[in-house]
Amino acid sequence: MERAVRSILVDCRYAEEGCTEKTAYCNKSEHEKVCPLAPRFLCPEPGCGFAGLQGEELLDHLTGNHRWPSTTFWYYAAFDICVAQPGTQVLQSANDGQLFLVNARQAAAPPAGLVVSIVCVPPHQKPTGFGCRVSFSCFGRHRSTWTLDDLPSLRISDWPPAEYVCVVPKALDGAGDGAGAVLTVTIVCALPDDVYEDDDPDGYISSDSESDEDGSDSS
Ligand SMILES: [Zn+2]
Ligand SMILES: [Zn+2]
Repeated sequence: MERAVRSILVDCRYAEEGCTEKTAYCNKSEHEKVCPLAPRFLCPEPGCGFAGLQGEELLDHLTGNHRWPSTTFWYYAAFDICVAQPGTQVLQSANDGQLFLVNARQAAAPPAGLVVSIVCVPPHQKPTGFGCRVSFSCFGRHRSTWTLDDLPSLRISDWPPAEYVCVVPKALDGAGDGAGAVLTVTIVCALPDDVYEDDDPDGYISSDSESDEDGSDSS
């Protein structure tokens, strides 16, 4: 009898993605960690192609291989990042490990400045979206604030992202360059932690709106 129980096979969590592997229940999570159809955490750097199985792997890769600076933050708590030159930095939520990327690039058209984009890195830790608020003081006088209700997801095919949060004006005339701007950032998630116990493990996969970008069209 015991043997019979042990031999019950269960589907892989990524069966809907096409995985046909069946494992004993006790080996299920082991397989899912290495399942070829599990969603990957992709590095957006052109020509890199790194794909991590876990967010931590991608974080190590981005900070180690590409030397992108990283900042840890809590949802709903404001934190500062410095944007001084074109480049990318990584943000990691201390709540759930969700990764975000902040990209700064030269404005294509005058006035000169840095165009700042923030994207969240899929696969997402929560089924709902994220919003953010960014503010910095402009010319040492008033503070400008920008908000984005729905942070876009990182798309490797759209990097650096076309959608941006704000433009940081080039260092104020006469004040010298290279000073950069300190951005005060707040990231919120629509679903607070205390509502987060709905333990439907497939919940986040079932958002159809994102599934048309999974690169599975091999045409
Ligand atoms: Zn699998
Ligand atoms: Zn890379």
